[in-house]
Amino acid sequence: MYVQEWFKGLDPKNRPEVRMFENRYNYHQLLVERDITLFSCCEHHFVPIIGKAHVAYLPGANVVGLSKLNRVVQYYARRPQVQERLTRQIAEELKQSLGTDDVAVLIEADHLCVMSRGVNDTSSSTLTSEYSGRFAMDEALRGEFLRQIGK
Ligand SMILES: [Zn+2]
Repeated sequence: MYVQEWFKGLDPKNRPEVRMFENRYNYHQLLVERDITLFSCCEHHFVPIIGKAHVAYLPGANVVGLSKLNRVVQYYARRPQVQERLTRQIAEELKQSLGTDDVAVLIEADHLCVMSRGVNDTSSSTLTSEYSGRFAMDEALRGEFLRQIGK
């Protein structure tokens, strides 16, 4: 289970191949893939991190197959993780694979280690985000992204 499921993101063989397609529809507006199921594992306490990832990009000459966005999230989540690093790894991978800096990533997750031990808080959740390219510079674009994911 650990090798084949929980930590399959540790094996580079499982890295999703992200193929790009010509943007024949000339779609250049915001594209958001929201509510991507996120299942990870806290590397400090070895208990689950469960939540959602939302990613967005601005298509240029090429577009990506939508499910690849989910697969990139899952590949980096399926290993012992820290949410802050996971957020950055997904953003970096998308920037490289999509060939653009115009990328946004937001993760909201519950950490079982916070819920079940220590502070024992079952209602708090953790949000992390990474904005680059036009998302970092353009507050209105960031606002559109946050509206579309219901924030
Ligand atoms: Zn933990």
